[in-house]
Amino acid sequence: MIILCDLAKLAKRHLLGAGRDLRRSASLCYDSPRVIRLYHVSKVYPPRFTALSDVSLAIEPGEFVFLTGPSGAGKTTLLRLLLGAETPTVGQVVIGGRNLVRLGRRGIAKLRRSTGMVFQDAKLLPGLPVLDNVALPAEAAGESSKEARRKAFALLRDLGLKDLVRRYPRSLSGGEQQRVALARALVNEPGLLLADEPTGNLDEESARRVVELMVRAHSGGATVVLATHDPQLLGAVSGRQITLRAGHLVDGGAAAE
Ligand code: ADP
Repeated sequence: MIILCDLAKLAKRHLLGAGRDLRRSASLCYDSPRVIRLYHVSKVYPPRFTALSDVSLAIEPGEFVFLTGPSGAGKTTLLRLLLGAETPTVGQVVIGGRNLVRLGRRGIAKLRRSTGMVFQDAKLLPGLPVLDNVALPAEAAGESSKEARRKAFALLRDLGLKDLVRRYPRSLSGGEQQRVALARALVNEPGLLLADEPTGNLDEESARRVVELMVRAHSGGATVVLATHDPQLLGAVSGRQITLRAGHLVDGGAAAE
C-alpha cells in the first residue's frame, strides 16, 4: 500500500492525470510518517502552570501510541506541541528531523497539513454539510474546490459514511459526528494522526467504530498518537502506552537519544 501511495504521489507531482488515477485506486495514501523526538521538553503556561516537566520521548514512524494519564497530566499539551500549536518553554520537539521551535509560520503551516487532529468534541462547522466540512482542509491545503470535494467524497465513501455527505452536523449522532471529524482529519492523508480523547463522549459501539477508523489510518501507514484514559480502548488495539502524571513521563516513553 505504501509503495503504491508513493508511486501515486510521484505520478501526481510529475504527470498529474496519471497520479490521480492511481490515487483513486488507493484513496488513503498517507504522507510518509516521520520520526518524532522530544528532548527535555517542559511547558509552563503563564503565570506558572507547569503542564509538562522534562519530557524526553521517541516515537517511531508508523507506531500506534496511547497517551494515558489522569486529567491534568499534560496529554493535550503534548499533542498541541506535536501539532505545532504550542512551543515548548524549554527543550526541543523534532519531527522528521525538523526542530519545530525553529520552523517559521510557513513551516508550521506545512507541518499541520501533514498532521490530522481530532478532539473530544467533533468541532464540525454547523453551517456546512458533511461533505464541505471534510473538504475544507483539502481546500485550505491548496486543492481546487472540485478536487477537494472529490477527495472528501471518496474518503467518506471508503470510510462507510457516504450516506452522510449531505447531512448537517446537528442532524448526526455524536458517534457519526466524530467519524466525520476523523474523515476531516484524514482528508489530507496525514502521516501523523493526533487524537485527544476522541471517544470521551461516545457510547461503547460508537467508540469502537471511531477507533476502527484510527486503526485503518494506522494500517495505511500513519503514525497515530491517541490520548485516552478509557481502559477499554487500551485493550482493544495493540500499541505502546505512554503514561504522563502531573506533567512527568512515568512510563512507556523510549527516551530520545
Ligand atoms: P490533560 O490533557 O492530561 O488533561 P492538559 O495538557 O490539558 O492535561 O493540562 C495540563 C496542565 O496544564 C493542567 O494543570 C492545566 O490546567 C494546565 N493548562 C493547560 N492549558 C493551559 C493554559 N492555556 N493556561 C494555563 N494552564 C493550562
